[in-house]
Amino acid sequence: MRVNPHYRELAESYLFSTISRKVKEYQDAHPDAAVIRLGIGDVTRPLAPAVVEAMERAAAEQGEAATFRGYGPEQGYPFLREAVAAYYAGFGVELSPEEVFISDGAKSDLGNILDLFAADNTVLIPDPVYPVYVDTNRMAGRPILFADATWENGFLPAPDPAVKADIIYICSPNNPTGAVYTREGLQAWVDYALAQDAVILFDAAYACFIQDPALPRSIYEIPGARDCAIEFGSFSKMAGFTGTRCGFTIVPQGLTREGMSLAGMWLRRQTTKFNGVPYIVQRGAEAVFTPHGLTQIQENLDYYRENARVIMAGLTQAGIAFTGGEHSPYLWLRCPGGLDSWSYFDRLLQEAQVVGTPGAGFGRNGEGYFRLTAFGDQDATRQAMARLAALRF
Ligand code: PLP
Repeated sequence: MRVNPHYRELAESYLFSTISRKVKEYQDAHPDAAVIRLGIGDVTRPLAPAVVEAMERAAAEQGEAATFRGYGPEQGYPFLREAVAAYYAGFGVELSPEEVFISDGAKSDLGNILDLFAADNTVLIPDPVYPVYVDTNRMAGRPILFADATWENGFLPAPDPAVKADIIYICSPNNPTGAVYTREGLQAWVDYALAQDAVILFDAAYACFIQDPALPRSIYEIPGARDCAIEFGSFSKMAGFTGTRCGFTIVPQGLTREGMSLAGMWLRRQTTKFNGVPYIVQRGAEAVFTPHGLTQIQENLDYYRENARVIMAGLTQAGIAFTGGEHSPYLWLRCPGGLDSWSYFDRLLQEAQVVGTPGAGFGRNGEGYFRLTAFGDQDATRQAMARLAALRF
């Protein structure tokens, strides 16, 4: 028996364990200090009442012989696939429900989708970015190239026609930088992917934070994208489903490579390796798109947006340069005083009792930057920013 040798090539995931250790050490030494965490990428607001009521009704149905349901369709119940398609139609993207595949979250499918692609495909990944893209491809031994996201390009790299890639990741609004591609920016990537016969994996997990209708919420708002892109959506940040688990993956019907339909391959993959998302959860997700559901999730999103506004104001007051926050729950700041990410983390913890995430944990280009999130409590966020703005470097 031989293990997958590529697991040896994975970098140890020190980021969040190191943060926890440092915070614990600080708290042990300063038991009275009120530490505020603006580092987490998890939501804190509860599920919307419309979602909870729908799940309660569905749970009751599961308790009655007449309405009990066993295995569901692997690709999701039609009611939810239709609701997702109708939601997209609301901002002008026409999808057939058959193109929508319900998942237990974007993270699983971002990894699972790689079953469709040969192991020798070259992958192009922005740096810095959500680390899952790099690790899932390292596990499969695929060659990885990086597209540099820098302060100079607004953390929105443009394609380089000289670079040959087969699989391209785009995350917009971006984790960790909060940067959002314009239509023109995405069009350049779609044109590049079509020219290269490549496939774009578009992560739209934070699309719900986009407030400007001029900014694309889906890659399918871009002409040509149906012939080169797969999109990943999630109820996690949109509706607080991080612990409830539901998302969706969109694979256009006409998207083919080497004579194979990627939607057909994905259906085959899902029916072989996946048995669907729980009925109760899918009913909860469906309720997100009801008029009540949409109003209620907006209240939670507005709560986080207010936090983002407070963080932006605090950073501006402190004279700290940053990106994100406007169409994203993430704020990405340049560490003041020329500090590296971990030195700034230590200073912020020790002198302001505020915890964030060092940018170096998201890739080479993240060094010298720092991520704050808008998912915390509003009073705590205000307090944290007052402390942070008072620090001098
Ligand atoms: N994509 C990005 C960019 C994320 O930041 C996250 C979670 O933090 C996910 C996907 C995972 O989403 P889900 O909870 O749907 O698995």
